[in-house]
Amino acid sequence: DNPIQRKPDWIRVRAPNSPVYQETRALMREHRLTTVCEEAACPNIGECWSQRHATMMIMGEICTRACAFCNVTTGQPNPLDDDEPARVAEAVATLGLRHVVITSVDRDDLTDGGARHFARVIGAIRAAAPDTTIEILTPDFLRKPGALEIVVAARPDVFNHNLETVPRLYQPIRPGARYYQSLRLLDDVKRLDPTIFTKSGLMLGLGETAPEVYQVMDDFRVADVDFLTLGQYLQPTPKHAAIAEFVTPAAFDEYAARARAKGFLQVSASPLTRSSYHADEDFERLRAA
Ligand code: SF4
Ligand code: SF4
Repeated sequence: DNPIQRKPDWIRVRAPNSPVYQETRALMREHRLTTVCEEAACPNIGECWSQRHATMMIMGEICTRACAFCNVTTGQPNPLDDDEPARVAEAVATLGLRHVVITSVDRDDLTDGGARHFARVIGAIRAAAPDTTIEILTPDFLRKPGALEIVVAARPDVFNHNLETVPRLYQPIRPGARYYQSLRLLDDVKRLDPTIFTKSGLMLGLGETAPEVYQVMDDFRVADVDFLTLGQYLQPTPKHAAIAEFVTPAAFDEYAARARAKGFLQVSASPLTRSSYHADEDFERLRAA
């Protein structure tokens, strides 16, 4: 086991207890929805849910992968729930969201990796909440030919797929995934539909070096990735990968400045940045620009 380290002062989170937080929680329970906010034990849950900003996680609570940083349970998932797209869409409409982020577990057990289910969720949200912009955060669809095309054809506004870490650390941190497959996925989204914004990100503090991070930024730009998120990895339990370093806010600022200079349309880099953190405001700002 890896003992959990004490967090530095710059990682401070508010306790989740506002009335709106409770309302958001009740709505998720009522529609029997899973959120990555809870499953990943996200430190921003108090702030996000107090603004009705929750990221729903579709296709169950059990993942076929076992990434070393992730708090989601690994195992044999349950069959897909055919009613889930309608329940997600209802919750989005009830919350009155201008922008929603939908993510999922990895479903290597399904022949299409869950692509059709993603497309159904997007379609249901479009029908129930036509003004809501939709951001999806998908698996890598490794060895699922044709899956990406199905998801892209459903036309999400933002297609997000996180590379999570630098290529050297894939084996220990993201053992079921392939760096170039993930990068290629983002490149393919742009090739299939250049009107969809693409987004990706890394967790820092896993032992990567600054030159490795800059190399990944360059790889992203070659793949025409529009938005970049960089956040601090936090260890969920002693069973998960140890934190190699708490990256300082000043170092995040430096990464952000370099990323902007490399031409990303939008950069979010701070210790508590997560790919869905402030995604609504960021997208609004971009549309207004
Ligand atoms: Fe949920 Fe994302 Fe906010 Fe975390 S940052 S609480 S995962 S919406
Ligand atoms: Fe967690 Fe996603 Fe990895 Fe599954 S694929 S273990 S949900 S990070």
